[in-house]
Amino acid sequence: MSNLIHFTDKGMYVPLADVYIDPWKPVARAIITHAHSDHARWGMGAYLCHHQTIPVLKKRLGDNNYQVFRYGEEITINGVKFNFYPAGHVLGSAQIRVEYGGDVWVASGDYKLQHDGISAPFEAVKCNTFITESTFGLPVYNWKPQAEVINEINAWWKLNQEKGKCSVIFAYSLGKAQRIIHNVDHALGDIFVHGSVENMNTAYSEAGIALKPCRKVSAGFGKEAYRNALIVAPPSADGSEWMRKFEPYSTALASGWMALRGARRRGAVDRGFVLSDHADWGELNTAVKATGATRVIVTHGYTSVFSQWLREQGLEAFDVETQFSGESIDEDAIKT
Ligand SMILES: [Zn+2]
Ligand SMILES: [Zn+2]
Repeated sequence: MSNLIHFTDKGMYVPLADVYIDPWKPVARAIITHAHSDHARWGMGAYLCHHQTIPVLKKRLGDNNYQVFRYGEEITINGVKFNFYPAGHVLGSAQIRVEYGGDVWVASGDYKLQHDGISAPFEAVKCNTFITESTFGLPVYNWKPQAEVINEINAWWKLNQEKGKCSVIFAYSLGKAQRIIHNVDHALGDIFVHGSVENMNTAYSEAGIALKPCRKVSAGFGKEAYRNALIVAPPSADGSEWMRKFEPYSTALASGWMALRGARRRGAVDRGFVLSDHADWGELNTAVKATGATRVIVTHGYTSVFSQWLREQGLEAFDVETQFSGESIDEDAIKT
């Protein structure tokens, strides 16, 4: 097997094509797996990405030299073939297949195997070397089916209505927020969103994804408008002045970290819902097997645990240091 992709101080690099994948320092040409801020940074000479990623990048990074790709589409640079495949993580998220001289690598970015109802579902891609995250790479992370978590959110919302409280759920404004808006029961009441979520919703509609109706929280609405409503806001809104208009309210956080009792206790929220846009332990293992890769490189999360586990399964596996951050509780997409 060749060294098609190198790990450098600027990020993952394909020297034969002079292209980086999700670099963390400015470079001339960058392939971007998805629009989260640890994977798509400012200052690239050209951004090569899936067409649905571009509306979000424009909001985050302004106008740039964006080059548009679709899933399955192939581009060849200096004889190296690149393809984008769905990663199931957020809108437009892609795994990058890189092929040269019969050797195939896949850089998966962030991914999940559960279908969220909005993002194009993850597709396993055969390769020799698979580059994977391991944000939730411990056996303790074992997600319930999405429908069960959504039912829990609906039930919590209903209970709050019975108590005369507004429901405020904190979720990443890119990906998680839209997943909640798309899947909760709109018959229960109105849904309002924070400005940063509204901003991302607009990017989703520009990318051709029609979300169910929701309105932006604004001065025009009185307290009564929010009484039975569900408010979707980024975690950074927690404890802010912005929250006062919803009083009395109950708060919840939707995150993979809510699987840990300690994380739930430390947070100030009333409820935790275990909902992640990353693969759990079982999904990581399923994904690795499905690629048929004999070599696996682990980039972020519980890297040493997961790579050691893979070695015990007979694979060649190792971890590398990168600047990808996994699923942080804090908002990372957009500040408004
Ligand atoms: Zn991500
Ligand atoms: Zn990541």
